[in-house]
Amino acid sequence: MNVKEMDAAYVAHTYKRFPVQIVSGQGSIVKDDQGKEYIDLGSGIAVTSFGIGDEQWKQAVMDQMNQVQHMSNLYYTEPCARLAQMLCQKTGMKKVFFCNSGAEANECAIKTARKYASDKYGPERYTIITLKNSFHGRTITTLAATGQEHYHELFQPLTPGFQHTAAEDVQELKDLIDQQPTAAVMIECVQGEGGVIPLSKAYVQAVAKICKEKDILLIVDEVQTGNGRTGQLYAYMHYGIQPDIVSTAKGLGGGLPLGAALLGDKVENVLGFGDHGSTFGGNPVCCAGALSVLSRLDEAFLQEVREKSAYLFDTFKDAPGVEAVTGLGLMIGLKTKKPAGQVLAACMEKGVLCLTAKDKVRLLPALNIPMDTLKQAADIIKAVCAEEERT
Ligand SMILES: *Cc1c(COP(=O)(O)O)cnc(C)c1O
Repeated sequence: MNVKEMDAAYVAHTYKRFPVQIVSGQGSIVKDDQGKEYIDLGSGIAVTSFGIGDEQWKQAVMDQMNQVQHMSNLYYTEPCARLAQMLCQKTGMKKVFFCNSGAEANECAIKTARKYASDKYGPERYTIITLKNSFHGRTITTLAATGQEHYHELFQPLTPGFQHTAAEDVQELKDLIDQQPTAAVMIECVQGEGGVIPLSKAYVQAVAKICKEKDILLIVDEVQTGNGRTGQLYAYMHYGIQPDIVSTAKGLGGGLPLGAALLGDKVENVLGFGDHGSTFGGNPVCCAGALSVLSRLDEAFLQEVREKSAYLFDTFKDAPGVEAVTGLGLMIGLKTKKPAGQVLAACMEKGVLCLTAKDKVRLLPALNIPMDTLKQAADIIKAVCAEEERT
């Protein structure tokens, strides 16, 4: 059996894969088993922040691998402590809980919010309000948080206690809060899976103000938007707010599984011994990778991310076959005249890997993609969008 046959025979059919097998890569270039090269604008879905096989990142990971690859959380390890310190120093948050994925980071955020509200106001204050069209993960609880009905249908009953409100509708949020004791509001500053849609500054600030007045916790899901992706270290920093809890994962480890819930001063001591845990959480190799990623996301680097973003917005703004460009930083959505799937397939044929989000083409290049590589890829996408639709 070749790899495709083996995969079809033995891997659960939860992913509709493209007919491409990637065998190696360097930076933003990946190579398939036929030797064909592609410019990768997906980065493993915003995971490989510095591309494939970045030397500095690899060195940090290998150095830790040669020390110790895992210890349980019954013992201290240095990368975990240093990473928590770095995250707090860069965000003003107070404590960090480490896990392995975005869904788990949100689980921690939700558990923390429930316990904070219950400790302080009693057990009936458990509702968490999220936005329609949001995406927060695949576990039964984070599916309940996800504000898209089609994810819910097959898995009833989901965890109770979640309500969904339309983004940008402040009055609806206020009404919902008046209807039930509310523990937290959870938002993505840029809805990723939902179609790369940034929230307005006015709305996010209004949400933050309401939450503050009523001692409702504000959770910002930065699983996709975090770790430099939007041109700030975390997307909330564009909005002039300070969340109570930030969840993150994807790009944090630079390609190794690592999630984190950052806890602000209201909630830093809500979880006590035994209240939460994760066997792999804070794994020293993953944390060493994350330390390498985070230590390089300084202001000069983020400025380059913003410049590359501006270049993409300029390039696609009036491009033939492109109806709209949305997003923030290097998280870009293109509403194309042709169906997004068709654009993706044509780009792949011409050596560029993109993603979709709802009806949009989604671009999530490595943050350090060289400008000339980005231009080369953008030219190909532009040409594909401009071509007459195939019949
Ligand atoms: C990807 C994503 C998640 C889920 O992360 P996993 O690591 O797949 O569990 C949650 N929230 C947002 C905003 C995401 O983009």
